[in-house]
Amino acid sequence: MFIDTHAHLTNDEYPDLQNVLDRAKKAQVSAIINPSFDYESSLSASCLSEDVDFVYGALGIHPHDADKLTDEIIAKFKKIAIENKKIVAIGETGLDYFKCKTLPDIQQKSFQKHMELALELDLPVIVHCREAHQDVINIMSDKKYEGIRCVFHCFAGAEALLTFAIEMGFYISYTGNITFKKAELLRESVKKTPLDKLMIETDCPYLAPVPFRGERNEPAFVHYVAKAVSELKGLSVEETAKITTQNAENFFRINI
Ligand SMILES: [Zn+2]
Ligand SMILES: [Zn+2]
Repeated sequence: MFIDTHAHLTNDEYPDLQNVLDRAKKAQVSAIINPSFDYESSLSASCLSEDVDFVYGALGIHPHDADKLTDEIIAKFKKIAIENKKIVAIGETGLDYFKCKTLPDIQQKSFQKHMELALELDLPVIVHCREAHQDVINIMSDKKYEGIRCVFHCFAGAEALLTFAIEMGFYISYTGNITFKKAELLRESVKKTPLDKLMIETDCPYLAPVPFRGERNEPAFVHYVAKAVSELKGLSVEETAKITTQNAENFFRINI
């Protein structure tokens, strides 16, 4: 059994969602975490989690759209998270200076608001970090965020961020890009990641693993990520599945 800890199951990408979910089940995916990237996707993530037993949701505004976050949206997220027990995290949030679609200081404010909400609701936070690890470390080191539970999703291999995550007891989640030919740095980082803090994800519809690179990704492909992790860790795929599933259950506080 696998848990895909980061899959964007949006209507636009998956008009054939029922088939995608059926294939996931057949591929031994026992739970899917569906994080959000804007207000509308947060509402639909909440609805989908109520409709589909093995899908859970997270509420958040992606760093790309950080300028869209308002106090009203935070209040709405809070209400939804309290009412819907299948909302298991806040995210995705974080900092993205690669595409930098929103000014860094606006991204930082949004990231901080998401973390405050996560702490208030006692939910973990799903953090996206691209070419911004020093600021992520600086912000998260603030005493204000002590005790926060965090996963760095789609981990990009920054050594300093890995060290920080290990020190803080945070989780690291890897996606299909660890199967890419030129991803040596990422594979090194998988090797250094503590086994009890490692999770797997597809980040679908993006980052389909080899042999589907470039195609639309989906949760059924998460076992390719597990296989790549198992080879790097010297484990069987079954052991990797068991460990990463247990980690995801602990992190998101779900029981499957
Ligand atoms: Zn992301
Ligand atoms: Zn994402």
